[in-house]
Amino acid sequence: MNIHEFQAKQLFSRYGIPVPRGRRADSVEEAVAIANELASSVTVVKAQIHAGGRGKAGGVKLAKSRDHVEALAREILGKTLVTPQTGPQGKVVKKLLIEEGVSIGHEFYLSLVVDRASASIAVVASREGGMEIEEVAAKHPEKIIKVFIDPTIGYQPFHGRRVAFALGLPKDVVNAFVKLLGSLYSLFMAKDASLVEINPLVLTTDQKFVALDGKMNFDDNGLFRQEDVRAFRDLDEEEPLETKAAEHNLNYVKLDGTIGCMVNGAGLAMATMDVVKLAGGEPANFLDVGGGATKETVKEAFGILLADPHVRGVFVNIFGGIVRCERIAGGIIDATREVRVGVPLVVRLDGTNADEGKRMLAASGLDLDVADTMWQGAQRIVALAQKGRA
Ligand code: ADP
Ligand code: MG
Repeated sequence: MNIHEFQAKQLFSRYGIPVPRGRRADSVEEAVAIANELASSVTVVKAQIHAGGRGKAGGVKLAKSRDHVEALAREILGKTLVTPQTGPQGKVVKKLLIEEGVSIGHEFYLSLVVDRASASIAVVASREGGMEIEEVAAKHPEKIIKVFIDPTIGYQPFHGRRVAFALGLPKDVVNAFVKLLGSLYSLFMAKDASLVEINPLVLTTDQKFVALDGKMNFDDNGLFRQEDVRAFRDLDEEEPLETKAAEHNLNYVKLDGTIGCMVNGAGLAMATMDVVKLAGGEPANFLDVGGGATKETVKEAFGILLADPHVRGVFVNIFGGIVRCERIAGGIIDATREVRVGVPLVVRLDGTNADEGKRMLAASGLDLDVADTMWQGAQRIVALAQKGRA
C-alpha cells in the first residue's frame, strides 16, 4: 500500500524526523487559510498524488504571496499530472499540501528498502539528491551509497556514521544525521514498511536537516496490525476494479490487453498470461480466483472481468486440485445466465472432475467453447477476440 507525502510527513514527525510546517488542503479556500496560518515568506503548494516526479510536471510550486498561493492552488487542484510514474493517462490532483518554504543548502537522497538478496534493510543514499536522482543512478551508479543493516542486530550508530562520511557531511551535523537515520529505521520497522524515501533530504542554509519530500510503501501482509497506516488508505488513488476484487478475496491486477483471464492459482495465472501472449494476444488482467473458488467467487470474477471495457474475450483456465471442476462449471453456467458476457468465452478445465465439468458446459446450451488444453484454449480465444474486433 502507498500513502501520500503529507501522510508520510505526519509519520516522520511522530518519529522525530524534522519536516516543514504545513497541512493538507482539499480546496483553494483551505489552501489560503493554511498559508495565512503559516505566515512564512515563501509558501510551497504541492500536489498530493500517489506518484513521484511531481516537481518536473508542474505539481510543486513556490509562492511569494497569499494571492500567489490562491492562484497556484486554483491551477494545481483538479489538474491532471503526467509524470514517469503515473502512466500516460496521468493522475487528477484532488489534494494539496501547503507548507512553508525551506531555505535549501544542499539536497541529499536517503531511503530504506527491504533488500531480499542480502536479507537485510538497505540504506540507499546520495549527495546528488533532488529531482534528477533517476538519472544519477543510471549514469553515475558510483554516486549511490549502500549500507546494509542486518535486522536481527538492528540499527547501530556506526551504520549512520558510515553513511554520513560517505555523503561527505560536515562534521558538526554527523550526530544529527546518525540520530535521524536511527529514527527513520525505527519508523520503517514499526510500521512494516517496504520502502521509505526522502528525496530531497535537505541540509538547510543554517545547517539543519529537514525532510522536504516523503514517500512510503507498506507490506500489505502487515496491514492487519497497522491500524493507523490502514487509515491512510486513499481509494481515489486506487484502481476501482482492484479495490472491488480485494473485497471478494480475488487477486486481480488490471493490465492493458484485451483477453480477460480467469484462473486458479498464481502460478497458473502467470503461465496463462504467457500462453495468451505466445498465441499473439495481450492479457487484460491477472485474476486468481484462489484455491477454494466457489460458484459465488466465479460470478464475482466474471463481473469484474467484464466491467473492463477493453475486454474482447474471456479465457477461463482452471486446474482442479482442491477446487472441483464441476463446481467451476456450475459457477460459469450460473454466472453467464446472470451476467451478460457479450464477448467470446473459452473454457479449459483439467484435473478433479474435469470430465463432469465439461459435460455440464456442453449440455448447458451456452454460447462458449470448451478447449482440451491450455494452448488450444489460448489460441482459440485470441482468434475469436480478433475476429470479434474485425
Ligand atoms: P517530487 O519528488 O514529486 O518532484 P518534491 O516534494 O521532491 O516532489 O519537490 C520537488 C522539489 O521542489 C524538491 O526537490 C525541492 O527542490 C523543492 N521543494 C519541495 N518542497 C519544498 C519546500 N517546502 N521548500 C523549498 N523547496 C521545496
Ligand atoms: Mg521528491
